[in-house]
Amino acid sequence: MKVLVLNCGSSSIKYQFIDTTTQIALAKGMVERIGMSSAVLTHTPYGKEKIRIVGEILDHTIAIEYVIAVLLSPNHGVIKNKKEIDAVGHRVVHGGETFSGSVLITDQVMNAIKENIELAPLHNPPNIKGILAAKEHLPNTPQVGVFDTAFHVKMPPRAYLYGIPYELYRKYKIRRYGFHGTSHRYVSERAAKLIGKPIEELKIITAHLGNGCSMAAVEGGKSIDTTMGFTPLEGLIMGTRSGDIDPSVILYIMAKEGLSLSEANTLLNKHSGLIGISGESSDMREIEEAVKEGNKKAKNAFDVFNYRIKKYIGAYTAAMNGLDALVFTGGIGENSVMVRKEVCSNMEYLGIILDDNRNENVEGECLISSDDSKVKVFRIPTNEELVIALDTEKIVSEQLSQV
Ligand code: ADP
Repeated sequence: MKVLVLNCGSSSIKYQFIDTTTQIALAKGMVERIGMSSAVLTHTPYGKEKIRIVGEILDHTIAIEYVIAVLLSPNHGVIKNKKEIDAVGHRVVHGGETFSGSVLITDQVMNAIKENIELAPLHNPPNIKGILAAKEHLPNTPQVGVFDTAFHVKMPPRAYLYGIPYELYRKYKIRRYGFHGTSHRYVSERAAKLIGKPIEELKIITAHLGNGCSMAAVEGGKSIDTTMGFTPLEGLIMGTRSGDIDPSVILYIMAKEGLSLSEANTLLNKHSGLIGISGESSDMREIEEAVKEGNKKAKNAFDVFNYRIKKYIGAYTAAMNGLDALVFTGGIGENSVMVRKEVCSNMEYLGIILDDNRNENVEGECLISSDDSKVKVFRIPTNEELVIALDTEKIVSEQLSQV
């Protein structure tokens, strides 16, 4: 099956056109600056050069029209007819408590996604726009929603309830949801494959470290806890986000600096984390460079980042009463030799021993722990788009077989 995978943000759309049989992305690209007269579409057909088109793309409907047009283009396209798009798979950020798996998008599902707008005011509205736009251009093509929150939604109440009055959970659905679920699911499944045991028998910690960072405790193939919470702000230190913080600090800063709610929100989401501590950069590559040059603030940021991950490894090993594998993924997890080394240092007690040579020479999915490490440590590149394409294929095939 050939699936168009769409990840729609407020001013950008990332897409991949994936053949689920070969698992190859026949084309991938991105539309940026939607809403502006100088929007940019970059498109790379499999095995060919990237092309760049600049034009006026005022909304998501026009953006998707462009995406379909470039897929059909005689020079840069990969299909001859729109009908070759068998299905569309959408990344949807927040499924609330409604969705514990991917679903065929129906009117009822659209209403449920709309009901969750309050929980993800920045993300669900562009996801909805993308679905409506794809429906407009491909009215007879099945569409599937794959939710960032779905993998975590069945974690136990002890992991998702906050220590606040229970009525507030009932009234406003304030609980831990967790995000990056598609990535945590994918890399934990890949780790089980690499180990050669059924995932049902394994205890795995997955660390998705990108611009946003989160970890999950995956026991028997199920997420039983994760670091991001009600929003993607909780947990690990991230490029620009604070992660865990004493809630009183926020009230204190607001009072001292006279900040409004929205200013406090910006402070915690955009000016904190690596950029906040280092004053240098939110980008781990630049932090590492600064650390090597002896920059003390960058070293603080680097240390706080790694230490937080270490603490969660300890916490999740306790939560699962053991650990079989630790997986690093995401831009930092896949590429930073230094972060993996720091996080895994002095962890022998927990059974984690890194092999420096393996850690420094990674390629594709690979083991980076030593042969005598009780816990297997892996570097596994994530592939959320492939998961979305495969989920879409599965749901559409099931649907067709019922007809
Ligand atoms: P997003 O969460 O937006 O998808 P990515 O997963 O691409 O982001 O991760 C971006 C992060 O990965 C940045 O902090 C970047 O510095 C980091 N990164 C990418 N390559 C390297 C590298 N070689 N060494 C260290 N960090 C890297």
